[in-house]
Amino acid sequence: MLLGMEGVTVTGAEEDASGRLAVWARISRPAACPRCGAVSERVHEYVTTRPRDVRHGSREIGLFLEKRRLVCGNGDCPRGTFTEWAPQVPPRCRITRRLLEHCGDEIAERGITPAESARHNGVSWPSAHAAFGEKADAVLRDDPEPVAHLGIDEHRRGRARWRRDEETGEYALVADRWHTCFYDLSGNQGMLGQVEGRTAGDAAYWLAGATPAWRDAVRVVAIDMCTIYQSAVKKMLPAAEIVVDLFHVVQLAVKAVGDVRRRAIRELYGRRGKAGDPEYGIKHLLEKNLENLSQEQFAKVIETLDATGPGQHIALAWIGKEKLRHALNLRQRVTGSVPCQRQVRDRLFSFYDWCAQNEDIPELLTLARTIARWENEIAAAVVTGVTNAASESLNRIAKLEARMAYGFRNPANQRRRVRTACTRGTRRKPRDHLQAHHEQ
Ligand SMILES: [Zn+2]
Repeated sequence: MLLGMEGVTVTGAEEDASGRLAVWARISRPAACPRCGAVSERVHEYVTTRPRDVRHGSREIGLFLEKRRLVCGNGDCPRGTFTEWAPQVPPRCRITRRLLEHCGDEIAERGITPAESARHNGVSWPSAHAAFGEKADAVLRDDPEPVAHLGIDEHRRGRARWRRDEETGEYALVADRWHTCFYDLSGNQGMLGQVEGRTAGDAAYWLAGATPAWRDAVRVVAIDMCTIYQSAVKKMLPAAEIVVDLFHVVQLAVKAVGDVRRRAIRELYGRRGKAGDPEYGIKHLLEKNLENLSQEQFAKVIETLDATGPGQHIALAWIGKEKLRHALNLRQRVTGSVPCQRQVRDRLFSFYDWCAQNEDIPELLTLARTIARWENEIAAAVVTGVTNAASESLNRIAKLEARMAYGFRNPANQRRRVRTACTRGTRRKPRDHLQAHHEQ
C-alpha cells in the first residue's frame, strides 16, 4: 500500500548505509498472454528489473521489481513466453508511468525546465522532455476556440547571429529569428499560436490556417503601430476592426516631448543636459500624466519653462502631449462610460490644431502626422477599450521561459514550452489580473 502501485506487491524493504530505501516487489496480478489472452502460471524464468520511480517523501527509492517470464499454456498459440506487467510498469519500461507523469507535470504546470526535472528525478533529458511533450500535446492539441479580441505581437527568438564572409570580410546576418505571436485577449486561452518570422506574409500564413468560421468570429485585432501586421489583418480579417495599443501612443508623445527638451537644452547651453539644469530637473515631471502632478509640481514646471524661449517650446510640446492624452482619456476605463467616435475625433482634432499652430516645433508635426496616420485605429482603441496589454505580459512569460531554458535550439520545442507557460495560469483560474496591468 505504501508503494501505491496497482498490481505490484512489496516483498521487502531495507535501508542501505547511505540512507537510500531499497524496495523489493513483485507483480501480483494474473498474467495473461498478450497474444491469445490465456492466463498462465508456468514460470520460464525470473528477472529483476530496476524501474525508476518517484521519491518517497524526499527520499530516493531503489525499486527492485521481480517479474516472471511465463510460458503461454495455450498449445495453439504461436507465442512462446511473455513477461508479466502492471499498469504503472508496462512491458519494457525503465521508468514508472507515474514518474513520467510527475516529470511532465513539473515541466508543464510548474515551469521547471526538462533538464532540471530530469536531474532531480534521475531520468534522462529525452525521457523528461518526452513526458512533457505528452502532457503538453494533451493540453494544446485542440485548435483554438473562437476569440472576439485577437492580439498580435512580435517576439524575438534569441539573439541575431552574424557570420563573416571570408572573401569580402563583411558580416552578413545569418539568423535574426522573430516570432509572430497570437493572443486571446477576450477569453482565457492565453497564447493561441506562434509562427516564425514577422512579415505580413508570416502573420497572414497563421491566420490563413484558421477556419473561416474562426476568422469571422474575430471582431477586434490589437496590434502595435506597425503597418506590417496592419496589412496582414486587413487582408485576412477584412471584417475585423484594428486597434493600436494606446500605451504605445502615449509613449510616442512622451518621446516627442523628450526630443524637444533635449533640443531646447542644446540651444540654451550648447551641450547635453545634466543635473543642475532647471529643464533637466523637471524631466520626470514632464513624463508624468498631468493629473498626477501636485500643484507645486505643476507650478514648478510652468515657472521653469516660462523662463526662456526654448523652455516655452518644451511647454508647447508638453501641452500637445496632454491634448493627445485628453482624447485617449475618453476611454471607458477612465471615464466609466463608453465614448462615441465623434467625441474622440473632436479631441484629436484639437490636438492636430495645436500642433499646426506650433508648426515651428518639428517634433510636434511629426507626432501629429503619425497620429493622423493611425487615427482610425486610435479612435477604435478608445471606443472599444481593447488593449494589447495582455499579450505584452504573456510575451514576458515567453521571454522568461526562454531564459530559463538558456535559449532554445529547437523552435518546435520553444513553441510548445511557451504555449504551455502562457496558458498555465488560465488552466488554473480565469485570467483577469493581466488586463488590469499596464495602463497609462
Ligand atoms: Zn498465448
